[in-house]
Amino acid sequence: MFVDSHCHLDFPDLANNLDEIFENMQQNQVTHALCVSVNLEDFPRVRTLAESHNNLYASVGVHPDYENLTEPSAAQLVKLAEPSRVVAIGETGLDYFRLKGDLEWQRERFRQHIRAAKQCNKPLIIHTREAAVDTLRIMAEEGADHVGGVMHCFTESLEVAQQAIEMNFSISFSGIVTFKNAHIVKEVARTIPLDKILIETDSPYLAPVPFRGKTNQPAFVRHVAEEIAKLREISLEEVATATTHNFFRLFKVA
Ligand SMILES: [Zn+2]
Ligand SMILES: [Zn+2]
Repeated sequence: MFVDSHCHLDFPDLANNLDEIFENMQQNQVTHALCVSVNLEDFPRVRTLAESHNNLYASVGVHPDYENLTEPSAAQLVKLAEPSRVVAIGETGLDYFRLKGDLEWQRERFRQHIRAAKQCNKPLIIHTREAAVDTLRIMAEEGADHVGGVMHCFTESLEVAQQAIEMNFSISFSGIVTFKNAHIVKEVARTIPLDKILIETDSPYLAPVPFRGKTNQPAFVRHVAEEIAKLREISLEEVATATTHNFFRLFKVA
């Protein structure tokens, strides 16, 4: 069985086709999925998904790409993370690719999320794009290693992966690892310890080969696992077992 550790089932492309999406998950042995929150306005829908399906979980957080939405305080995030189906804080982090200029607000928001995670003792889901140095620095300054979590949709170097692992974080690979030119991501997937690896779709984005360019969905996480098995020269079953075990251990759910 496979677990999609990061998807956005509340986004319209997916939310309007849930029956088909669940059927495809079942056909591909994708048993569980974590629905990741990107802003407080839409969080109730994410939470409802997790509370009305026993194989879905939720997180709470505000994505660094959203500048003009409700700014969360650590206390507010802790409160929203109280329900047991809310298993993580995020996604949070830094994105210097999508937005430019003075991004101090992103760094401050990221700090609030790390503080919240420590207060409620739930792991972090971290998004980082063209901002690895600042991301690792703030993780260290705020003591993110106390709760750990996952560096999601990983696209950074092996050194960045190793530094995150030293801070008690796992590394999650998306469909990007199946892209022909993703040499560095493939190297990371081949090299880091198997017990630090998670798999995800980040659907509706980033569909893996052979669905590249189409709307992604949790069932496609199987193709991410297949690529990792190929890269590491191990069986698909071994990748499935390890990544599923890693997911349940990290998010403390059964
Ligand atoms: Zn992300
Ligand atoms: Zn995401």
